Amino acid sequence: MTNNPAIDIVIVGGGIAGLWTLARLRRANYQVVLFEAEHLGCVQSGASQGIIHGGTKYALTGKITHSAQSIQEMPRRWKDCLDGLGEVDLRQAKKLSTHQYLWSNKSLASRMTGFFASKVMTSRMRHLHKKNYVAPFDKTDFNGELYQLDEPVLDVQSVIDTIREQYSDYIFQADVKKIIEPGSLSSHDSHSHEYYQIELFEQTLNKKRILFAKTLILTAGAGNENLLASIGFEQPKMQRRPLLMPMLKAKTAILPNMYAHCLGASALPKMTITAHQMPAAQTVWYLGGEIAEKGVERTIEEQVTCAKEELQNLMPWMNFSQCQWSALAIDRAEPKMMEGSRPVEPAVFRENQVITAWPVKLAMTPIMVDKIMDELDAAGVKKNAQPLLLDCSDLNSMQKAKTSLLPWEKVQNWL
Ligand SMILES: Cc1cc2nc3c(=O)[nH]c(=O)nc-3n(C[C@H](O)[C@H](O)[C@H](O)COP(=O)(O)OP(=O)(O)OC[C@H]3O[C@@H](n4cnc5c(N)ncnc54)[C@H](O)[C@@H]3O)c2cc1C
Repeated sequence: MTNNPAIDIVIVGGGIAGLWTLARLRRANYQVVLFEAEHLGCVQSGASQGIIHGGTKYALTGKITHSAQSIQEMPRRWKDCLDGLGEVDLRQAKKLSTHQYLWSNKSLASRMTGFFASKVMTSRMRHLHKKNYVAPFDKTDFNGELYQLDEPVLDVQSVIDTIREQYSDYIFQADVKKIIEPGSLSSHDSHSHEYYQIELFEQTLNKKRILFAKTLILTAGAGNENLLASIGFEQPKMQRRPLLMPMLKAKTAILPNMYAHCLGASALPKMTITAHQMPAAQTVWYLGGEIAEKGVERTIEEQVTCAKEELQNLMPWMNFSQCQWSALAIDRAEPKMMEGSRPVEPAVFRENQVITAWPVKLAMTPIMVDKIMDELDAAGVKKNAQPLLLDCSDLNSMQKAKTSLLPWEKVQNWL
């Protein structure tokens, strides 16, 4: 009989979902480790715009939707964490802005009235007087309306790095290649009857490993699909909704710091702009919203051409001729919905001792982890498990996972 190490709980995937889950479970004294195939935050989380929505985005139709209600509390929960009073200690994480702006041209004034009619919004949103306009809206050529929305924007890389630093002993770089259900192998390992067998590949060491886990939490984003298939589960099903996110960089004097949504005719903002600092006093503007959703059939070059035109139309008073451009193609990985529609809340599923989760939004991760904790209770997973289940000495030879670069730090050829 061989005895490969057996661990109480294994989390697969080191985006925000896996890391937040690790932090909450470690604080609650569960015996848990996390495996990340590449770098922490290297897929959706690092590519997100870092906006901690409190439902406004979903209320743009003028009526409060179900999703707007479920995420109203998110800015407060994240703020508690940033202040060191919440469920995860984010005191070292950076806030890019305490608020965002919404702007619209005059013709949208009636829509904005409907929008303000919603009670949830009034507490966080205020119309700005022209004398309070900030760059780049403080030019006389800007003749639209500007609103301030008190929902923060975070530096996601610093959020991920803060959690990594606190729990680095439990975060390893290894690709989970296969998961086998207990009892389905005729193995020499005494654990194989009771626990899930996990086949890992450590790229940096070019090494395969076998571990066992009593409970699995799959927070691998798009990677959940293959992991579920490897166990032989047909549910839950996943969907991908692609984006092609334009980005432009220039000296900060040309591209000021700004976090703003331009409202168009649909419920989705025409463009959502977030600003991120780069070395040598440069700023990147990262563009989401309708342009990123509608641009998915375009090449990067075509998307850049579109983004240049659209941005110039929306901000005719600005000069973008000195900017360098690129675009990032990325999929949102979510639970499957009817006709591929947008899910409105985090999804957590459990089959035996396997929990699969998608937060759907970075901002909604705390709700997702609440649901995971409930499922752990329902599955009878114990806190303070006996150390025999977790022998860290076996894991000590494994590579620790590092934090990923951000999308604009990875661009090789700016256009
Ligand atoms: C462009 C973009 C902008 C967004 N902006 C916002 C925003 O402003 N605000 C907001 O609230 N939400 C936003 N979102 C949504 C948000 O980013 C996601 O909901 C969230 O990041 C998903 O986190 P995750 O941890 O589930 O997935 P991911 O961040 O994708 O993490 C999954 C991780 O699992 C790893 N993995 C995969 N397979 C394996 C395996 N077999 N073994 C080990 N590891 C594996 C991957 O390498 C990856 O690191 C945005 C999404 C996108 C794409």
